[in-house]
Amino acid sequence: MRFEVTILGNGSASPSVTRHPSAHALNVREQFFLIDCGEGTQERLLRAGVSPLKLNAVFISHIHGDHIFGLIPLMASLAMAGKQTPLQISGPPALERLLDFFTRDFGLQLSFPLQFTPIDTTKHRLVHENTSMEVWSVPLRHRVPATGYLFREKQDPVGTIPRSYAYLSDTMPSAKAAELIQGVDLLYHEATFADTERHLARKTGHSTATQAAKIALKAGAGKLLLGHFSTRYKDLELIQNEARTIFPETYIATEGTTFGIPVVKK
Ligand SMILES: [Zn+2]
Ligand SMILES: [Zn+2]
Repeated sequence: MRFEVTILGNGSASPSVTRHPSAHALNVREQFFLIDCGEGTQERLLRAGVSPLKLNAVFISHIHGDHIFGLIPLMASLAMAGKQTPLQISGPPALERLLDFFTRDFGLQLSFPLQFTPIDTTKHRLVHENTSMEVWSVPLRHRVPATGYLFREKQDPVGTIPRSYAYLSDTMPSAKAAELIQGVDLLYHEATFADTERHLARKTGHSTATQAAKIALKAGAGKLLLGHFSTRYKDLELIQNEARTIFPETYIATEGTTFGIPVVKK
């Protein structure tokens, strides 16, 4: 009964030879979800051993290139591979226009039904659900409409404690978001900057490692993963150590690494 997230990219918008843009693959009991889809995500999925054909749904946080530029190529490859089952995509309403352009004007022919769910980025709502889990939107504070996502197992009759994962990127620190994800087991929070560049974080709608750690503390999170790093930081230990002074259970979301949440009996 796996509940684990694999980091496909931990960089931010500028291209880098060591980091890829945002994308996470979440496996909840062998159901696969993709969260954000930066450039090159399909290759990253293959490298991580996750078949793109297995993806049940894609969740997009906001319309910035480093979170969506991999989506159309991924869809084109799925069509080439003859995918038949529906692909569900959730994201801010403007994403639908982009999908429409590629499927109508550009002539991308899909072999599968595309089901788009627009997310009101100002609301905390149940946006997706199946027999074993729920996905909730979590409003973020960024330069454009942006939503985070909270993935939560449903109550299990077998008697295990429901596990949860929250993805908060891109955003300035939000006390409201911390409240909405209270008690989350694993929290991914962007930390584009170190606290010495706090002014840049504010100016660009991002967070520092210190601010991310304070949100993890406020949310009562079990573990904090940091990512979406600016290319200016070569040594990520600095970022990790900065956050650990406030929230010791902090880890760098290293690309290719899988972070699992173990099953705990009640
Ligand atoms: Zn970004
Ligand atoms: Zn952004």
